[in-house]
Amino acid sequence: MKKTILDLTKEELAQSIKPAFRAKQIFGWIYHSYVKSFEQMQNIPKAMRQELDEKYSLMPLEIVKKEYSEDGTIKYLFALPDGKTIEAVLLRMKEEEKDENGELTQQAKYTVCVSTQVGCKVGCTFCLTAKGGFTRDLTPGEIVAQVLAIKIDNDIPAARRMNIVYMGMGEPLDNLENLATAIQIFKDEDGLAIGAKRQTVSTSGLSSKIDKLGQMDLGVHIAISLHAVDDELRSELIPMNKAYNIASIIEAVKRFPIDTRKRVMFEYLVIKDKNDDLLSAKKLVKLLSGIKAKVNLIFFNPYPGSPYERPSVSSMVKFQEYLINHGLLCTIRQSKGIDISAACGQLKEKDQDEMRLIEADNAPYKKGL
Ligand code: SAH
Ligand code: SF4
Repeated sequence: MKKTILDLTKEELAQSIKPAFRAKQIFGWIYHSYVKSFEQMQNIPKAMRQELDEKYSLMPLEIVKKEYSEDGTIKYLFALPDGKTIEAVLLRMKEEEKDENGELTQQAKYTVCVSTQVGCKVGCTFCLTAKGGFTRDLTPGEIVAQVLAIKIDNDIPAARRMNIVYMGMGEPLDNLENLATAIQIFKDEDGLAIGAKRQTVSTSGLSSKIDKLGQMDLGVHIAISLHAVDDELRSELIPMNKAYNIASIIEAVKRFPIDTRKRVMFEYLVIKDKNDDLLSAKKLVKLLSGIKAKVNLIFFNPYPGSPYERPSVSSMVKFQEYLINHGLLCTIRQSKGIDISAACGQLKEKDQDEMRLIEADNAPYKKGL
């Protein structure tokens, strides 16, 4: 199977083709002009185009399914070259706004939620991705391709700024090398030009890898999936907590290089009768004291056979009020795409019959975009 050219940073590409400025041109064709074949790279000599075509594939993903939500969220199921599937989501954080003359006053704000692995090793008891076990890591190009394919599919102009959250399937820090390469490729000004500050890595808390990511000094944000304030419950939810407990995560976060104006995000999955009580809120305030933190409360999203229940809106609001009254910044995650299958792994696993399926027009991908 041919390697995808999206696996390469511009510098890596420049090492294999001479003269090196060709790498910049090729990046432009791929990430700005959205070409579907090497053949279309007009200012690249024919022999070089042929050589590239023999060595590399261009787009490693094929759209298998798309689901549209009322709020503009689009969830994608992509097939990889080996037939395995992964999910990515396009979120519209703000809608496009126009004035009475039809002039654009605000551009839509896009965030893409990407996967980093097929499956996941961490095995959280509330997570559907975990149920299928772990299959394999994604290559850098397979991570980068999710954003590129979504930009192409939605005719999003190359120059539009996007945000990335590594919150799809998989544990990003369990695939650290490929994640770091993908971050670099995303950042490249000759490519998608998504700066590190626009990229947020969400982790279930592999403390030693949080340190490693920090040492790489890539400039990305981190979000910690905390979900519990004591090790007993956290170990039930996230078995890996036995090896990397809450204290070790807090220590790692304190060592992480953070833009002084920014805050570290702590995600707290709220589960009915498990961690939605005010005593937990009180412990959370204590745990995060001394950290520039922001808490994002997430409603547990049930799925058929899930062992937990969704919390009530009132317990969620009371929890939030407690945190705010005690000096913590706290938001409740808007359930984007709640009418589709919001949490990770839920599109892939959902029964096909019960799903409002929209078969994607695969034509450009099948031709080998
Ligand atoms: N592995 C990383 C990133 C992917 S999971 C991590 O755990 O942080 C991304 C987010 O989806 C996590 O915060 C996780 O808690 C959340 N999630 C998983 N299953 C969910 C469910 N059933 N309902 C709501 N959120 C869920
Ligand atoms: Fe893996 Fe994140 Fe799901 Fe846990 S929540 S199993 S770490 S993808």
